[in-house]
Amino acid sequence: MQALRVGVLAFHGDVAEHVRATEEAGKHLKRALHVILVRTKDDLRGLDALIIPGGESTTLQKLCEREGMFGPMKRIKNIFGTCAGAILLAKTVRNKEKDQRTLGLMDIEVERNAYGRQTESFEKRIQTTLGKIDATFIRAPKIVKVGTDVEILAKDGNEILACEEAKGNKYYLALCFHPELTTTKFHEYFLSRI
Ligand code: GLN
Repeated sequence: MQALRVGVLAFHGDVAEHVRATEEAGKHLKRALHVILVRTKDDLRGLDALIIPGGESTTLQKLCEREGMFGPMKRIKNIFGTCAGAILLAKTVRNKEKDQRTLGLMDIEVERNAYGRQTESFEKRIQTTLGKIDATFIRAPKIVKVGTDVEILAKDGNEILACEEAKGNKYYLALCFHPELTTTKFHEYFLSRI
């Protein structure tokens, strides 16, 4: 089998942690991988998948647009967005900044900064379809609505914390928390879906 080409958007956020989690996930699955740091349109060429780390969705948007990456990103078949990355995937965003735009690929509605300010960040043990994990929420969004093709992978009470959408040859995975800090389970799951 050919090595998978997995990009990690590398402007800011937990880039190194996502690279490490992806490489470890590849080892657990015995899948050959090339992990590519993505900062330009050219870096997106030939990728099988892209991971968009958390950070600040408006900053990520501006840098991606400045580099002319929005169009090519929309054509990537498999995208895993965590936190700000999930916001970038969403079709609809509540509490957005003026001029905030997203890739609008996934049929979810997210509310930015839904738990309050940075100081209201927290960790919580949560149940997911991949088992129990410790989840870190950093000025996290909430997924407040999902379309009919979206499957939920983790909930806390009524809140959706992780979900996926497979449509045609496209696959999207969105998480409100930061898996790269505590587990490789979601990276393994993402790689297994490619
Ligand atoms: N609050 C950030 C935003 O709106 C997301 C925070 C995060 O990615 N940890 O983009």
